[in-house]
Amino acid sequence: MRYLFFLRILDFFFPLLCGICGREDFFSLKIGLCKRCIYAARTAKPSYRCNVCSSPMTTPFAVCEFCDSRNVFFTKVISLRDRNDLLGELLNKLKSNHEYPVSIFLSLGIRKFLRELKILDLDACILLPSYSKNRIFNSDLRPFSPSSRLYEETKRILRIPLIDPLTKTSRERQAGKSFSDRFFHAYSAWDIHPNWKDRCPSKILLLDDVFTTGASVNEASRILKKNGTKSVYVLTYLRVSD
Ligand SMILES: [Zn+2]
Ligand SMILES: [Zn+2]
Repeated sequence: MRYLFFLRILDFFFPLLCGICGREDFFSLKIGLCKRCIYAARTAKPSYRCNVCSSPMTTPFAVCEFCDSRNVFFTKVISLRDRNDLLGELLNKLKSNHEYPVSIFLSLGIRKFLRELKILDLDACILLPSYSKNRIFNSDLRPFSPSSRLYEETKRILRIPLIDPLTKTSRERQAGKSFSDRFFHAYSAWDIHPNWKDRCPSKILLLDDVFTTGASVNEASRILKKNGTKSVYVLTYLRVSD
C-alpha cells in the first residue's frame, strides 16, 4: 500500500509514460502524452462557433440551433478542446484510473483562457458535479475529482474561492442515461444549500470535465440564478461537438 502510494507520488512529479499508448518520449515526460498521440489528439478548427455554448457550426449564425431552442441559463461555455475519440479515452482514463499526468495534457492552454477571464471579475468557482468536500479530499474514495486541475489553475490565476452551494438531491448518476433522460433527470439533481439561499455570488465560474448536453450545467445555472447569481461561465476540458 505504501509502495503504491509512493509510486503515485512519483507519477505525480515525474510523468514518464504516455497516458494513451505507454510510450516514453520527450513530450510524455513533459505533458503526459507522447508526440504521436498528441498529433492524433488534434481536432480540426471549425469556421464558426456558437456564441453561447461554443460548439462548432457550419453557418455564421451567432447562436446554435440548440441554444436558440431552449432556455439557456449559463452565459458562456469555454472548453479547452472539442472531444474526439482519443481525447474521450484520455478523459475516461482520468476518471477511472485517476492518472494525474493525463490531466496535464487535458488542461494545456487553460492559462490563456483564465487570463482572458480576469476582466470578468468572477466571484467564485464551483466544481460540477459538486462532490461533498470529504469526497474530494478523502483519498480512499476518490484521489481527486477529474476537474480538480481546472480548479488548481483557476485558483492560481483568478484567485477566487471554491464554493459548494449546490447539494445533490439524487444518487443517480448522469452517466449511462439516455439523452432525454439527462434533461429530465437534471431537474431533480440539485438543491441550493441553505447557507446560500438567495445569496449566491454574482459571477460564477462552473468547472466540469466535459460539456455534453449541457443539461447539468444549465440546471445548475438555473438554480444559481434563482438564488442571486447574475452570470454563469462554464469551463471544461472537452466539449462534445455534435
Ligand atoms: Zn502515446
Ligand atoms: Zn450553442
